Amino acid sequence: MLTTLPNLLNSKNQLKALLETALKAEGEIDRSAASDAVYDWIDQLHQQLTSDHLAFSRLQLENEELEVELADTRDWEVEEKNYTLHRLKTGSYVYCRVTPTHNAISDYYLCATCFMNKVKSILQPVHKAFECHVCNSSIQGLPLPKPTIEML
Ligand SMILES: [Zn+2]
Repeated sequence: MLTTLPNLLNSKNQLKALLETALKAEGEIDRSAASDAVYDWIDQLHQQLTSDHLAFSRLQLENEELEVELADTRDWEVEEKNYTLHRLKTGSYVYCRVTPTHNAISDYYLCATCFMNKVKSILQPVHKAFECHVCNSSIQGLPLPKPTIEML
């Protein structure tokens, strides 16, 4: 856990008390005990700063990953508007690229399952079906006709 401001203030007050005790110490034994207490405090502070540094580094890395994920999500939100769900004559559903006027412009279909997972996977025709090479799903379909859009 990262050091909080109240913890820092408490830590400063502990150091101040330790130093005051060390300055008032009389005799070798008292000075040695006070000195040991200050060194222990410094050692604990060093450990806390090291821990804070590691936690901060992890948070920085996580933040960078989240920024990339956010940018990808924003890109996907723009890209997915170029596609619409399309029902094949067999009743299977695929995604198809469209123009703003909803006229089909692509001669390929995308896997609906992958599309919902934000992956564009072009379905490959195999006999009278389409196969997705990403999720290995098989979709009943006929050979690719000129796509027509049936708005859902
Ligand atoms: Zn797929």
